[in-house]
Amino acid sequence: MEPRLDAGTVERIEFDIEWPPGTAFAYLLVAEEPILVDAGSPGETGWNALASGISDAGYAPEEIEHLLVTHPHTDHAGQAATLLDAADPTVYAPVGVRARLSRDVDDLAATVRRNATAAGVPDVEAHVDRAVDSLRRNRACLPPERIDVEVAPGERFSAGDTVFEAVHVPGHQENQAAFLTDGLLFAGDAAVEPFRPAALHVGFDEGHTESIDAFYEGLSALSSVEPDVERVYPGHGPVFEDLAGAVARDRESLDSVVADCRAVVESLGVATAHEVTAERVGTLDGREYTVFESVGALARLRRQGVLDAETEEGVHRFRPA
Ligand SMILES: [Zn+2]
Repeated sequence: MEPRLDAGTVERIEFDIEWPPGTAFAYLLVAEEPILVDAGSPGETGWNALASGISDAGYAPEEIEHLLVTHPHTDHAGQAATLLDAADPTVYAPVGVRARLSRDVDDLAATVRRNATAAGVPDVEAHVDRAVDSLRRNRACLPPERIDVEVAPGERFSAGDTVFEAVHVPGHQENQAAFLTDGLLFAGDAAVEPFRPAALHVGFDEGHTESIDAFYEGLSALSSVEPDVERVYPGHGPVFEDLAGAVARDRESLDSVVADCRAVVESLGVATAHEVTAERVGTLDGREYTVFESVGALARLRRQGVLDAETEEGVHRFRPA
């Protein structure tokens, strides 16, 4: 074990993940009561990475007193249950995570089936299976009954003697928070340096038409705390300082998704969300999530009065208004 780091130091812990960008990060914030922000990826390699990262800071897993979870995806909450078996941290998660992880599987399946059908995707049951699998995986990583504290948007809360503000940053995931303390922003997948995180939001669950609006809302929340942020510790990619730059880039990226969806509907005359996606991104293989962004963009354009929609046999088709 290394000598202990000084209070206020952040130890960055790297995890391998199986999809791009290939790595995810959790952070150990050294304080009188050590705080872990996020818990890496699942499995034995994830645990080894977490345990050695904690040890590099001069601590043992059982000394972790607080675990803050930015959002309940497996690459960020992967070792929460394992850590809870090894130690007894107080677990903090954004409001709504407990309910989302406690979601009734049959109801989720029925909702995804209905919404995937409406989007016109050819592989409805594959979407249903992925949604159900990911719910099961997410709640195995972070059992909802083991969340001690749910933090509300904008809430200031203490973890030991460290005070955090929870910044509500939906869009990538509906119940995501970034945690701000003393100029340091632990951003999860709300702001990442080299790319805009996907607007997965809720997938095809209830609320699926809000993905793009929610992402814009999250960016506004980041803008409002930006003057207080000196350094960003993201869930992927490098630690960075230019939060305003990342927010501006993400806004532009969302603007172009919306503009592209509009242009495709105008050129095709009438189209489902799936047809818009196929036209906009080409092959969907392995990128099935891009349809969630089209659904959100098309719904936004409809709310703005730019597009009309009609429903026939459960399928939504969009056309210029
Ligand atoms: Zn992630």
